[in-house]
Amino acid sequence: MAHKKEVIRISRGAIDLLLVEARANPNIECCGLLGGRDGLISAVLPAKNALQSAKAYEIASEELFALFRRTRAEALEHLGIYHSHPKGENSPSPLDLERAFYPDAAYLIISPDLNASHPVRAFRIVAGRARELPLEIV
Ligand SMILES: [Zn+2]
Repeated sequence: MAHKKEVIRISRGAIDLLLVEARANPNIECCGLLGGRDGLISAVLPAKNALQSAKAYEIASEELFALFRRTRAEALEHLGIYHSHPKGENSPSPLDLERAFYPDAAYLIISPDLNASHPVRAFRIVAGRARELPLEIV
């Protein structure tokens, strides 16, 4: 297992929803959870950015717990967390590294920029270090 090449599998529909979310409000980081089954991300669960900021995001704890409940109720696995970077590169910021509390989750960062070469990128963040993982769109 340790030597298996890791990829993040995601449905085309989920990718499209993430881009819609990121572009809907290009001045505030969008954020939310990603769910799915058998390791395939297929559900996007948008949350409110409690900071209403273009440079950071936070999901209020009550909303986070409600989203986790919904994930369980719909028999979905919690597979990841997403947010957008309205400005600049869609790679983890120092704050993203510091606040990545789920080592098993995929962190997806979206750019609303229509010219971005990779508008959706995936990272695994463990102990403050990020590793980019290839996305397999199915
Ligand atoms: Zn970020």
